[in-house]
Amino acid sequence: MPATLIEGKPIAAALRAEVAARVPRFKARTGRLPGLTVVLVGEDPASQVYVRNKGVLTREAGMISDEIKLPAQTSQADLLGVVARLNADPAVDGILVQMPLPGHIDTQKIIEAIDPAKDVDGLHPVNAGMLAQGMEALVPCTPKGCMIMLEKTGVTLAGANALVIGRSILVGRPMAALLIGASATVTVAHSKSRDLPGLCKAADIVIAAVGRPEMVRGEWLKPGAMVIDVGINRIPKDDGKTRLVGDVHFASALEVAGAITPVPGGVGLMTIACLLGNTLTAACLRSGIDPKTL
Ligand code: NDP
Repeated sequence: MPATLIEGKPIAAALRAEVAARVPRFKARTGRLPGLTVVLVGEDPASQVYVRNKGVLTREAGMISDEIKLPAQTSQADLLGVVARLNADPAVDGILVQMPLPGHIDTQKIIEAIDPAKDVDGLHPVNAGMLAQGMEALVPCTPKGCMIMLEKTGVTLAGANALVIGRSILVGRPMAALLIGASATVTVAHSKSRDLPGLCKAADIVIAAVGRPEMVRGEWLKPGAMVIDVGINRIPKDDGKTRLVGDVHFASALEVAGAITPVPGGVGLMTIACLLGNTLTAACLRSGIDPKTL
């Protein structure tokens, strides 16, 4: 029997609607709206699309969206100056510096300059450390979205064997921390790991965040496994155009997995929805409100 599809669209829409419903309650308690500022350096076309979508969906959720567009040649010192100004601005609850940054800018320095209380990307070492210690933190949006999708499948995470393929600070590491927090037994694979097919065969849950088109094959999977495909890869088609594929070979995985996220239409849609959730969480915490009570 083919796997169940875990579609991102309805799950992300429900999450955005939930955030939008809570925003007026935040306004009633604080007299203001939560605000997200996205900083874009340069003119990377994919980043421009992401930033535009973030703006539209932030406003749709009833929050204030601001975009700061800087030229590609912006110096690191100038970008640090922008971040410092946003850190000091009481109307800004969330700061997101769109990655990738131009090569002359030290990305880590920029991440570390963002006030951890406004770090809605969850990449600051303070937030990453809190997550690693199992504390409440601003969690990176993509792995948070993956957890929400997993929870929607009703799979029991406690005691499950989960394999995370990839160890980036953006996806793999926080994903592993979240799964450990949910009491899964977690293996993290990376480019030096041996016998990836064997690791997959033992996994009840596979999270693929590799950036290698269709690398994970259906025949590697344990029958019935839950598969979350984070990969977004653009590959050429015969007609000279391109198409998007994940890190999992969808057609073969569909025959073996119990449930699987499609690409496109899967995890990608969750990332912005979780960003909106993080912005509201940051706004609450900065205003002394427990987000759970909103
Ligand atoms: P990175 O390039 O930062 O990390 C890739 C990871 O995969 C690294 O840890 C690397 O190992 C590992 N890896 C590379 N080759 C292999 C291999 N042959 N076998 C096992 N592991 C391997 O990528 P990101 O984590 O930023 O992104 C991963 C994918 O997710 C990309 O396709 C990206 O486009 C997508 N993505 C999607 C998002 C969404 O919203 N859906 C958001 C963010 C990313 P090592 O550490 O040893 O180099």
